[in-house]
Amino acid sequence: MININAIHKSFGDVEVLKGVSLTVAKGEVVCLIGPSGSGKSTVLRCINGLESYDQGTITINDRQVDVASKDINDLRTQVGMVFQRFNLFPHRTVVENVMEGPIFVKNEPRDIAHANAAALLEKVGLGDKVDAYPQQLSGGQQQRVAIARALAMQPEAILFDEPTSALDPELVGDVLTVMRDLANEGMTMVVVTHEMSFAKEVADRVCFLYGGQIVESGDAHTLLTQPSHERTQDFLRRVL
Ligand code: ATP
Ligand code: MG
Repeated sequence: MININAIHKSFGDVEVLKGVSLTVAKGEVVCLIGPSGSGKSTVLRCINGLESYDQGTITINDRQVDVASKDINDLRTQVGMVFQRFNLFPHRTVVENVMEGPIFVKNEPRDIAHANAAALLEKVGLGDKVDAYPQQLSGGQQQRVAIARALAMQPEAILFDEPTSALDPELVGDVLTVMRDLANEGMTMVVVTHEMSFAKEVADRVCFLYGGQIVESGDAHTLLTQPSHERTQDFLRRVL
């Protein structure tokens, strides 16, 4: 479904992705781990066209991701993204935040968008917060709104960039539960995370990124318990 083939990306003189290749099949959950600055966010941003790449190819369902092409917005609606900071509109209610994309991007009628949004909020455990404003919610609740907002576009895949790392520890669990449920329902997901227990339990595959290259990837259990590359061993020793 997502096919990344040997992409390179530089910012000025600095090459931050040095030939990254990764395929994600429909329904697969892939976790990307690696130290700060290794290029994890850049990989995600290239996948949904928030960032261009210099060499290589990325396709989503065989359509090339090309920032300059006119159907890039269409491609972006197929791949949702959830960030560390949730970026909800502060002056709109929770349900309005979730309805925004379907109404303005997909031209959905307001009443249908509202009903779908309310159902999604119910699904992420926020059925009683529909008319609240974002600042009345905890960080974990806001992040679940952000997930509902991504789901409202009926994406074929969702990219998560450290969705729990800005949260107080006691709020992390509820967000991971929502993500785990999505994975179990067959959502295709690429997740940048430092939550190794989540990766071990939920990921079909884990890729370790270092210095702009995937130095090791494999099934979650093997990579996290018996990494073969020294860099991976080093990294895991630090975070586990
Ligand atoms: P972290 O764990 O800290 O989020 P990361 O693995 O997500 O790190 P990236 O954000 O992808 O790393 O950044 C990879 C490299 O690219 C870093 O050296 C970063 O400074 C650089 N970089 C990222 N975005 C830009 C940009 N817009 N302009 C210049 N350099 C950038
Ligand atoms: Mg990052």
